[in-house]
Amino acid sequence: MANDKLHLFTILPRLLITYLPTLLLQRLQAIIHSLTYRSLPPSSLKTVLVLGGSFTGTALARRLRQTLPTGYRVVLIEKNSHFNYSFNFPRYAIVSGLEERAFIPYTNLASSAPKGIFAQVQGNVVSVDGVKKEVELENGEKVGFEFLAVATGSRQGFPAKVQATEKRDGVEEFREFQERVRGSGRIAVVGGGAVGVQLSADVKEWFPEKEVLLVHSRERLLSGFGERLGDYVAGRLGEMGVKLRLGERPSVGSGEKATTLKFKDGSEEVFDLMIPCTGQIPNSSIISSLGPDVLAKSGRINVKPTLQLSDPAYPHIFALGDVAETYGPKMGRAGMMQAEIVVSNILSMIKGGEASKKYVPHFVEGALKLSLGKSESVIYVKESPERDILVPGKSKCKNEDLGIAQVWKHFGADTKDYSV
Ligand SMILES: Cc1cc2nc3c(=O)[nH]c(=O)nc-3n(C[C@H](O)[C@H](O)[C@H](O)COP(=O)(O)OP(=O)(O)OC[C@H]3O[C@@H](n4cnc5c(N)ncnc54)[C@H](O)[C@@H]3O)c2cc1C
Repeated sequence: MANDKLHLFTILPRLLITYLPTLLLQRLQAIIHSLTYRSLPPSSLKTVLVLGGSFTGTALARRLRQTLPTGYRVVLIEKNSHFNYSFNFPRYAIVSGLEERAFIPYTNLASSAPKGIFAQVQGNVVSVDGVKKEVELENGEKVGFEFLAVATGSRQGFPAKVQATEKRDGVEEFREFQERVRGSGRIAVVGGGAVGVQLSADVKEWFPEKEVLLVHSRERLLSGFGERLGDYVAGRLGEMGVKLRLGERPSVGSGEKATTLKFKDGSEEVFDLMIPCTGQIPNSSIISSLGPDVLAKSGRINVKPTLQLSDPAYPHIFALGDVAETYGPKMGRAGMMQAEIVVSNILSMIKGGEASKKYVPHFVEGALKLSLGKSESVIYVKESPERDILVPGKSKCKNEDLGIAQVWKHFGADTKDYSV
């Protein structure tokens, strides 16, 4: 692992050299763009419509408002009142008093944008008409588009996601959950991915007296990542006192037995609280009526390497992020990288050219920093099929809220009052 640390420090400058010039150039182009973009009446503007305002959709909208030529605007449609910072949801589900910080106001998303280039609508899109080039919202409103980018991600149960669309209701979901955790002595967490692992570690850290069992269907935790990570994390959780049952898909009872798990050897265990951390479902149904091959077996949207729909009838529709069937990892960072591909292709098509930029995942998109309780974390990067990097560390971030102030600032939001 000492070698891994050294290697990590050698690849960081390489990454800086790759991305820093691009970021600086983008900044410069954005300044020139803000000086040259001419505001026109809304009725004369063509719309690039982005569906979904999470990690992928906001990154895309931000880059479009820095690059679209005069005559075009970006409209972002998102059903939630606030940006849901889901990376920190497992921590805030356990530690009371932080939950308001998970919901960041969108108010200043485009504060520095040229007038008229950006608009945001809060609404739930129910269908897409690829021929008429319009989407329909739950309230019956229709929004037309010249180009469409679908970044509607996936849904999952609490604590990976909340069901609420308004901040006050989302905060309430957290508080109710925290109450249930506080009132439970024996807790089972089902699903040993990143959410289940972080949650189990945090329960044991903040409530050492509670019994925590983490159940996972595969023989190794975090099975979507490399073997070393799973083994390392299993060791650390064991030291923290979290019990593990691997290679198990327990059946869950119903009614009064909803917290009883039955294992493959026939044994049953009763818990006070059972927390499922499995089962991501892509939010792709809004587009399924476009054709029989629009969706992959996984339920995600089939895309070409240019991130246009695979169906050649819809070259003006793109899909990216967790909802798209790409070769990239299902990570926030990957969605942001894909946003650059979509921006480049839309700009090229606006100029009458081809969508020629292709998405090729970079290993850094799959890098993971996993917190394991209050003060420990582990960084894991799969650099190539042969080489991975695992660096355990003390959490630099001493804040229980995992340094959320930085994220609020990134969104131009004021951290003096987290309740807004
Ligand atoms: C607990 C947790 C921790 C994570 N940690 C990391 C990490 O450290 N690093 C990392 O890179 N990744 C991490 N991930 C993965 C990351 O969160 C996802 O890859 C990322 O959220 C995908 O972003 P997305 O924008 O594509 O989709 P989502 O985040 O799923 O967002 C989709 C958005 O679309 C909106 N939407 C959906 N349907 C509609 C509709 N019909 N109308 C209007 N709006 C709609 C939703 O409200 C949502 O805001 C983590 C995930 C979880 C759950």
